[in-house]
Amino acid sequence: MKTEDVVYACTCDIAGKVRGKGFPAADFEKRLKRGIGWAPTNVQITCFDAIAESPFGSLGDMVLIPDPETRVTIRDEPLGLSEDFVLGDIRHTDGQAWGCCTRSILKAALERLERTAGLSLVCAFEHEFQFKGLSAKLGSAYTLAGFRERRRFAETLVAAMRKAGLEPDTVMKEYGAEQFEITNAPRVGVRAADEAVILREVVRAVALVTGEEVTFTPLRDPAGVGNGVHIHLSFLDADGKPATYDPQARHGLSVHAARFIAGVLKYLDSFVALTAPSLISYGRLTPHRWSAAFNNLGVQDREASVRICPVSAMSDIDRARQFNFEFRAADATASPYLQLAAIVHAGAAGIEEGLECPEATQEDLSLLSEDALALRGLGRLPRSLPSALERFQASETVKGWFAPDFVEVYRLHKLGEMAYLKDRSEQEIAAAYEIAY
Ligand code: GLU
Ligand code: MG
Repeated sequence: MKTEDVVYACTCDIAGKVRGKGFPAADFEKRLKRGIGWAPTNVQITCFDAIAESPFGSLGDMVLIPDPETRVTIRDEPLGLSEDFVLGDIRHTDGQAWGCCTRSILKAALERLERTAGLSLVCAFEHEFQFKGLSAKLGSAYTLAGFRERRRFAETLVAAMRKAGLEPDTVMKEYGAEQFEITNAPRVGVRAADEAVILREVVRAVALVTGEEVTFTPLRDPAGVGNGVHIHLSFLDADGKPATYDPQARHGLSVHAARFIAGVLKYLDSFVALTAPSLISYGRLTPHRWSAAFNNLGVQDREASVRICPVSAMSDIDRARQFNFEFRAADATASPYLQLAAIVHAGAAGIEEGLECPEATQEDLSLLSEDALALRGLGRLPRSLPSALERFQASETVKGWFAPDFVEVYRLHKLGEMAYLKDRSEQEIAAAYEIAY
């Protein structure tokens, strides 16, 4: 008997999990209209499979409508890969976007940026992850030898990414034990977040067929190196011209880019619960980990929440197009849609408020007192998920970027996630996230 192709239609939800339902590929066209049925309470399934308190209970029906542009079909027998999935939006049965659909939330944020400043966003998500091998060999950071051990994995990954419509950029043995990093080319708008979702799934699919196990957990070993997600951002104006760079201005930032970054830093403490949303995320967001611990701007400083990336005079790409900044207070326990939505809303708010371009910091901020930091408009990011969630709940501005339903659902979801981990040791919590992500 011959098998029949099945497409899995998915959402990437609050838990950052890619969940959905399958249907025969032969019905693809029909399903673009009909979608698949989706229970609202599914949004409360935590990364540990427990269902957090849900305002919807057993009631209600939604429809997940696939976006054909996001379909990934990789049927490659020699590589052993067999993937067919598509991402989509969750709507009410009358067709309206649902307030808890992460992808629709991002679309609304991008529309705000477009309305406010006439800008479209160019973005790429850079991912770090670790193999779950038993022991790391000493002396393998960035080495060819370390890469060689995983060459089969890396080359399968690059091939699979291309088949999935992604453009691989670099792949490397990162610094940490068993840690790798993969980057891909930037894309415009919601596609950038779609590709982050696709990338994580392709990495997992390739791991499965190459006999590896990977984890994107932000901090596998509390004493070790973190796995970050660095979100690179730049803008295009209405004519499609780069709009991030102004060589005459402070730090080379265009007026819009400077205000956008100022907004991100102003609201960061209140939205970091969306970009670094797990209990373990806050072990990574500490000083001296090359992650992000303060709401600061840095020029080529890997300890800054927002870092202006270098441009090279030798590149074939012109300066204005190379110029971008990266957001570093993010990890892969979040949905890329929510991460980007929060950043874009904060940036758009910064533009609307006409905020000043922030001064870049150059010193070790962990050596300064709280008062000295406050004088410069700086502060330590929340040190735990409960405190990040409190800041989110306390900011009427940040909550106002989302539907009231979503704000409450998010709070309950995270309470459910934390309840599962209650009374567990730091090591047990780290282990649980390592399995879940
Ligand atoms: N692993 C670091 C993080 O957690 C980033 C290191 C780097 O700059 O690539 O974000
Ligand atoms: Mg890295």
